[in-house]
Amino acid sequence: MTDQDSQENEHNLRAEIVRLNKVVEALMNRVERSSSIHSSDFNQFQTTIMLENLVRERTEALEAALSENEKINRALHEAEEKFHRVLDQSLVGIAMIIEERFHYVNHKFADIFAYDVERLLAINIIELISEVDQPKLMEAMRGALNKEFSQINITVNAQRRTGEVIAVEISGSAAIEINGKPALIAVMADITERLRSERAVKVLHEQLQYQAIHDPLTGLYNRLFLNESLDRELLLADRQGYPVSVIMTDLDHFKAINDRYGHQAGDKVLKAFADIMRRHSRASDIDCRYGGEEFFLVLPDTSQETAHQRAEQMRLSLIAQPLVIGESIIPVSASFGVAAYPASGLSCAELIGAADKALYAAKDAGRNRVISA
Ligand code: GH3
Ligand code: MG
Ligand code: MG
Repeated sequence: MTDQDSQENEHNLRAEIVRLNKVVEALMNRVERSSSIHSSDFNQFQTTIMLENLVRERTEALEAALSENEKINRALHEAEEKFHRVLDQSLVGIAMIIEERFHYVNHKFADIFAYDVERLLAINIIELISEVDQPKLMEAMRGALNKEFSQINITVNAQRRTGEVIAVEISGSAAIEINGKPALIAVMADITERLRSERAVKVLHEQLQYQAIHDPLTGLYNRLFLNESLDRELLLADRQGYPVSVIMTDLDHFKAINDRYGHQAGDKVLKAFADIMRRHSRASDIDCRYGGEEFFLVLPDTSQETAHQRAEQMRLSLIAQPLVIGESIIPVSASFGVAAYPASGLSCAELIGAADKALYAAKDAGRNRVISA
């Protein structure tokens, strides 16, 4: 039984009691009048008493029904209050919307928007939502009212009374009928903090992914990435039928640079060579720092001759730009070993081994040179 039904019932009962009382009154008047005129008309008197009894019984029955009705009403109100008390303790915002206006909002809902419950009841839900997201909410509400969607779940930006913009997630289901009108019940959560931490986690995840495969000093790929990608490059080369060349580089007498100019100067030399490598690499090449002062460049779809030329260009670049630190000009050179797949080796290990061997041949031959396997 709805509130409205119960009020109507109570109204009808009261009207009937009033009507019955009027009947009793009219009969009593008649009895009084007739007894004064025909005091001997006993039959009429008896009928009147009988009717009066009947009316009293009926009145008592109606009054009992009325009291029962009041009890039901009280119970209904108590149940509603209890229901609201439970909703008010909810950690999510809950609102009932009838004809775009709030019919009911719980305290959490008002907290989310920094409004008093009463003030919120006076405004239209759309006024809380940022202008760009208003069509999204209107569309969702329209769909829920038409029962096009059984469930809505949208995230929109909204503005608190304080002016602060927040992200809210709104969930709801198709409209239900309340007091003969379609009503929407929406559950709302402020997800601003959640989105902020999700974004922070994503950035952190990307940083970790980057750090896992890059050398922090030079920004080149690290050995882990080389091991993972060289395998893949050789498989791809097999499928496409092209060669893959590699250049292994080791700076000459690097320990002496460290000893003479300090470790920081040594680091600058490593960075300077990394820049040269980057400048001489194509987008498809994989440039890595292989170890301390050793570097590795993978050149997919490149012949050994071309790779040899590329190594020669890097060697010349390096000796053409000695590092200047304060008053000192530090001459730097490097030795290069070039190998190619499949000519120099049929696996990653064989290919790296061939390049390493060529590099040491370059060292043996006096350094500052390129030797091909
Ligand atoms: P060679 O011409 O035979 O290659 O001689 P080398 O001195 O370059 O080779 P060696 O292997 O004797 O020395 C390499 C040095 O590189 C030793 C090590 O301290 C230094 N080294 C390794 N990693 C770093 C680094 O990150 N920064 C600096 N500054 N030095 C490093
Ligand atoms: Mg070395
Ligand atoms: Mg060295």
